[in-house]
Amino acid sequence: MKIIGIIGGMSYESSIHYYERINKQVNARVGNLTCAKMIIYNVNFEEIRKFMLNDEWDKIAIELANIAMKLENAGADCIVIATNTMHKLAEYVQNKISIPLIHIADCVAEKCKEMEIFKVGLLGTKYTMVEEFLKNRLESNGLLVSVPEDNSDVDEIDRIIFNELCKGKIKDSSKQYYIDVINKMIETKGIEGIILGCTEIEMLIKSKDIQIPIFDTTQSHIDFIVDICLEKINL
Ligand code: GLU
Repeated sequence: MKIIGIIGGMSYESSIHYYERINKQVNARVGNLTCAKMIIYNVNFEEIRKFMLNDEWDKIAIELANIAMKLENAGADCIVIATNTMHKLAEYVQNKISIPLIHIADCVAEKCKEMEIFKVGLLGTKYTMVEEFLKNRLESNGLLVSVPEDNSDVDEIDRIIFNELCKGKIKDSSKQYYIDVINKMIETKGIEGIILGCTEIEMLIKSKDIQIPIFDTTQSHIDFIVDICLEKINL
């Protein structure tokens, strides 16, 4: 079995799902008392968030790379960053370690391709929707990616993530907001699938809420990690 090194805490609401589901899925496949070998380094998200708001990404990059190096030294066989947004720094982190970083966009793109869905919408934090780092990685996997057009939608989706979902708050009004934005993208962009490109959105939006397939980055990442754990995928 491989040892997974997880950089978590962004937010802890979604990192909980990584811990719980990786163990459950490994156990469901192997049985008995089997669970996953993993090392989790949980950051203090408040410190990271301050750096984000001050646009001090260089400081976050150094912190995440230091953590990745610690996890490698502790025996991890690969690194997982349990958030989409921090994949803005994926290349920087990868260059500081000699074990592979399991990129969240590759995992979700695989799921889209399995279902032969290539024209997708992407929801996530403002960074993820407005900047190119995740879109480019998805597009290099053969997908055609759209994001919400209206700046007010981008701001509200981002606000709901940080002010509600990352604090464990699930509101019906926010759920409806997301559904309306997705429906607008179906109408105007002709998307055939929607990528939940933030690890907390799956707490709000479920398959039954939307008429097109949902591709959740959290679960896609987890499924891939379980296969690595069980050595079904070679690193
Ligand atoms: N968990 C979120 C994501 O997947 C947002 C938190 C963060 O900024 O890392 O993007």
